[in-house]
Amino acid sequence: MRYSQFLIPTLREDPAEAEVVSHRLMLRAGMIRKLAAGVYSTLPLGERVLQKTAQIVREEMNRAGALELTLPFVQPAEIWHESGRWNVYGKELMRLKDRHNREFCLGPTHEEVITDLVKGVVSSYKQLPVNLYQIHIKFRDEIRPRFGVMRAREFIMKDAYSFDVDNAGAEISYGKMYEAYSRIFERLGLTFRPVEADSGPIGGSFSHEFMVLADTGEDVIVTCSACDYAANTEKAEIKQEGTSEVNEGDFKELERVETPDMRTIEEVTGFLKVGSELLIKTLVFTTSDGPVVALVRGDHEINEIKLKNYLNCNELELAEEDVIESITGAPRGFAGPVGLEKVKIIADYGLQGGTNMVTGGNERDVHVINVNFNRDFTPDTFADIRLADEGDPCPRCGKPLTTTRGIEVGHIFKLGTKYSKSMGATYLDADGKAREMVMGCYGIGVGRTVAAAIEQSHDENGIIFPAPIAPFSVLVVLVNPTDEGQAKIAEEIYDGLMQDGVDVLLDDRDERPGIKFKDADLVGIPIRVTVGKNAVKDNKIDVKRRKTGEVQEIPVENAAAAIKDIIVS
Ligand SMILES: [Zn+2]
Repeated sequence: MRYSQFLIPTLREDPAEAEVVSHRLMLRAGMIRKLAAGVYSTLPLGERVLQKTAQIVREEMNRAGALELTLPFVQPAEIWHESGRWNVYGKELMRLKDRHNREFCLGPTHEEVITDLVKGVVSSYKQLPVNLYQIHIKFRDEIRPRFGVMRAREFIMKDAYSFDVDNAGAEISYGKMYEAYSRIFERLGLTFRPVEADSGPIGGSFSHEFMVLADTGEDVIVTCSACDYAANTEKAEIKQEGTSEVNEGDFKELERVETPDMRTIEEVTGFLKVGSELLIKTLVFTTSDGPVVALVRGDHEINEIKLKNYLNCNELELAEEDVIESITGAPRGFAGPVGLEKVKIIADYGLQGGTNMVTGGNERDVHVINVNFNRDFTPDTFADIRLADEGDPCPRCGKPLTTTRGIEVGHIFKLGTKYSKSMGATYLDADGKAREMVMGCYGIGVGRTVAAAIEQSHDENGIIFPAPIAPFSVLVVLVNPTDEGQAKIAEEIYDGLMQDGVDVLLDDRDERPGIKFKDADLVGIPIRVTVGKNAVKDNKIDVKRRKTGEVQEIPVENAAAAIKDIIVS
């Protein structure tokens, strides 16, 4: 491919809309352009990267025995009513009506479509197991689309669905996908880690996320140094430690104290001169089943996903000011469990055993001190509802956990019979008896994987593509296209590489060398070959590796073959 005939609209300046590295570099390198919030066009350079990534995914899915197909993007409401998700999926499901006023949605995921398809075409145990996948568009109406293709509303995903005769079979299918995913991310040239994860709205009993490790990652993962436990903090269990036993002889007298305008943990603990571990943080949530109060220690953070799972509700969010006032009688910052009635109170395990604690007084500018469980208030229950953090004990072995940041690029789930039951996907077993198929589902965000690769691998000058997904393997920079000697050498190298089947881009543009070199670094092609004055004068060309910056001088003669050797080395 010739640069002069290719479309790579690079940008000199950082785009103002970009909040994260991958977004900034994908815009600057001319890989993507925004059409609307969370909706992007993929330009030819980006498309090459996307296709290479998709191809590796496809090859490994095929190797694992999965079969590719294409499912409709626009889905009728009926199948979502059948599965029971039409009313519980929430606002991420983009709903629309056709000219006959029939309801549809844009597919955010395809469990309903695939289950509907399979129940129509599979009737016997002899046709199972089967694993079907597609690499196609999804749409999720994210409340806050951001970070470019990292958290877009429309995106390309590989989604696969397995159907087995029983749980044992489903375990095998799950294991095959776990292996396939490990090979995929390995082949993509990424540093990654599979971790235990929350199942979220897809449902199901058990799941793993595949995380690309990057300091800029949105997700925090905890890993154990002693055993192989690794989990998303959304999911990470916390070993219940300590005891709920307290010595009532230590209880001091409950007291109300004035805390004018002090709402934050820092303000309150600083003013009262107590450690934040003595504070009871009181959070009011509104849920689909009414308001709930959650309590965590001042030095801990609430984990809304664990709380939501514990409550088993569909929607859960921090309450607005008016709800807080109606429940506590005080503005935000002064809520506390003492005297709160008619609302469910859930306390984190971390609060057990605490004595003489501090919390809001349910009155503006007032806190209460020397608060003790059972004497002053009793929560409805204790539960594990906080975020795991560095140093927390591993739920498996008790050794301290460490935290790392990552980007979720793949997610595999055991679904069980959730969909086959609700949608009636049964098969006849050897005895002619109807049984529900046991399902699994397996996703990879293909566009997101590209962004994650960039988050993991870049420098101040631009992208450093892992070789397997680079848009081209080699960039030949013809420094001065008007110099016939240089042009001849560059063309020969270009032709030689093309004949050898190497993906090569020849920068034959009539641009200043500085611009060509800047673009080369920005676009991040692994090998840059420079054909300049030395090529003509000394019969020498430079071969530079984008990743290390290492430059190698090679002779013009048989350059294409030498470059090919460098690519594979
Ligand atoms: Zn451990």
